[in-house]
Amino acid sequence: MTARNPVEALPSVVARLERALTRRLGRRAAVRQVNNAPEWYVADPVFSFLQRGRVNHANGYRVGLHYDGDANELSFRIVHSPAMAEFLKENLSLATLRRTVLLTASTCEDSAVWWSSRQAIRDGEHLGTRTLLGPAGDVLAELDQLTEETFTRDLFPRIPGATWRGSYFGVHLADRASRLSLAALAEVVDAAWPLVLALYPQAPAERRDASLARRLRSMVPRACEFLQIRDLPKVAVTACAGRIEGAHIVPHARGGSDLLKNGLWLCAAHHRVTEGKLAGRRTATTFNVRFVS
Ligand SMILES: [Zn+2]
Repeated sequence: MTARNPVEALPSVVARLERALTRRLGRRAAVRQVNNAPEWYVADPVFSFLQRGRVNHANGYRVGLHYDGDANELSFRIVHSPAMAEFLKENLSLATLRRTVLLTASTCEDSAVWWSSRQAIRDGEHLGTRTLLGPAGDVLAELDQLTEETFTRDLFPRIPGATWRGSYFGVHLADRASRLSLAALAEVVDAAWPLVLALYPQAPAERRDASLARRLRSMVPRACEFLQIRDLPKVAVTACAGRIEGAHIVPHARGGSDLLKNGLWLCAAHHRVTEGKLAGRRTATTFNVRFVS
């Protein structure tokens, strides 16, 4: 999967991105350079098999996390990969896309989302992509104009008789990418992870709590941390019950990450009474979490 024509040495940011994605995937991520261009894709090697199973020629296969060496930018991209586009159309929700834009607002000067759109068709000819570009707030406001239904219908339209069927999709993830540390890239990978999951024929049955638990397990003894939470209402202080689970401080649906800083161990009973009602963060050695409602 390494580049056949390496026109440039592997930039260190691509090596760090590969490490970050490898950790998230749980298997070695593949790095592939675009022929004769300072551009790299980092992705699950399985994607090339999925693509090959659908079409005779896997040439031009470009999908995954993309680093543009000239612009020093990171994005999530699909370029001319109809099979992967089909999976994405099936699996991607507007809410997921919205969340990625929200979580990458701090690493992007301007946010951007682009896709092959029904709206870009004129006289049966596909003219290109629809692009939302600007401050994260503006892009989110534009996404809010769509519904799950209108978005899915708009994405990668099938055009009878058209000269080509567009399958472009992209989300801008970071500017000045070469400055990002491994930890910062892990957060970018985390933000883009739901997009990556949308590229499988069926989204893997990963429980969000499982990846959080994996991180907690290596750093924190597995015991309910409920009583360390500050500002607990007296009525909630009951005995522990049920299995000990990895829990999010800020829920995933509200933009909470699966990183250690957003996790704690809770028994099932205390997980239930605190769900969505916590704020703060923790490290392996500090615990600063409070009950907020
Ligand atoms: Zn407990």
